[in-house]
Amino acid sequence: MARLHEYEGKALFKIAKMPIPQGDVAKTPEEARAIAAKIGKPVVVKVQIWAGGRGKAGGVQFAASPEEAENVAASLLGRTIKGLLVEKVLVEEKLAIDREYYAGIIVDARAEARCPVVMFSTSGGMDIESVPADKIALMNVDVLRGFRIYDALNLANRLKVPSPHISQVARLMVGLYDTFKNYGARLIEINPLVVTADGKVLAGDCRISIDDSSVIRHPELGIEVARESGTPPTELDKLAWWVEEKDLRGTCYFAEMDNVLAGEVFGTIGFHGMGGGGAMLGVDGLNKQGLRVANFADTSGNPPASKVYRAAKLVFSQKGIDGFLLGGFMAANQEQWHHAHGVVKALREEIPKRPGFPVLLLLAGNKEKESLEILREGTKDLPARIRIYGGERVYDTVGLAAEMKEMVLEYKKEQKKTKEATHAGI
Ligand code: GDP
Ligand code: MN
Repeated sequence: MARLHEYEGKALFKIAKMPIPQGDVAKTPEEARAIAAKIGKPVVVKVQIWAGGRGKAGGVQFAASPEEAENVAASLLGRTIKGLLVEKVLVEEKLAIDREYYAGIIVDARAEARCPVVMFSTSGGMDIESVPADKIALMNVDVLRGFRIYDALNLANRLKVPSPHISQVARLMVGLYDTFKNYGARLIEINPLVVTADGKVLAGDCRISIDDSSVIRHPELGIEVARESGTPPTELDKLAWWVEEKDLRGTCYFAEMDNVLAGEVFGTIGFHGMGGGGAMLGVDGLNKQGLRVANFADTSGNPPASKVYRAAKLVFSQKGIDGFLLGGFMAANQEQWHHAHGVVKALREEIPKRPGFPVLLLLAGNKEKESLEILREGTKDLPARIRIYGGERVYDTVGLAAEMKEMVLEYKKEQKKTKEATHAGI
């Protein structure tokens, strides 16, 4: 999923003719001042970061004048809020809020549903998770039939939205559904959906996440990497997305990690997993042994060897890694020999550059026997510490991580010796 910023989402609302507060996005305090001056009313200054709960974290502040807006923007820009650097703020007219509602749509992917679910609540302004179920009106939408104005009116009516603004609320919900559908979103949310003191209804906030598969169809959204992440993509993340974008057979996820460990760190591992849950246990196992991971990579959905090869090359391109772990913990839907071929090719190119390098290869699943054979045959002449395992070790993340640590320690000792010998001119 790819998340948009509030100001980007509100621009889509505007296209759908949904009412939004007057305002614009600013990168500098001067721009914030100019926007506030143009609005000519008290404003709200909101940090644009990929996180909710900005209000409580001090990321939503008010300003009565353009000067104050400039000062508030100056204090927010460059600050870190909820662990994220603030690079932009949205400056909007301050609304006189009378009521805060909630409207949202998610995809319910469970077999018994498999459809968008429209959610509406009169208890807005707080996390929808903390709103009691009886305060939320839901409707599963048949995508062929669509979501119509009377569906929206029914939802609003169930929670007794007063008649003076029920039709505005309903129109906003229909606009929300159209935006959700037109951009292939997985999630869309207005919280709060604001009713002002003078009876206007507007989208006070916006959260949208676009489905990975829709990103390619919407270049106008300017999404660099179709992955939901709290932080902007790194250069390597962008390269990795290129692998995915050009070849939709199977998936290649890649994210550089800032994997900070509490205790002593013994080394850094380039991680190439598959089968999300097992792969995460693998990372956890490494971390518990004092090994950090440089990245999280995942190749699943039966990708061809070429894609696996590219993923492995991305992993190896990271500076400062002391080992490579292929964590094929569990993958029921793919023939593992494609992985074996792809990884062997990458290892044959990379290992000669780093003799003695620790490599742990675990491949479990369909065509396991053949895959292990390909790995053994393809790596037997490589000058590395290579261990190859199959399904028998799949639950042994602790043992595998311990083995990795042992290899990393030996490798590092060896490297230190080589370095000393070079210095001594031997
Ligand atoms: P979030 O905390 O990241 O979800 O950011 P929101 O945009 O939802 O803002 C948080 C809260 O700030 C809202 O629920 C409102 O209570 C308040 N707020 C935001 N904009 C305005 C505004 O224009 N006027 C008033 N009175 N309150 C606002
Ligand atoms: Mn909000």
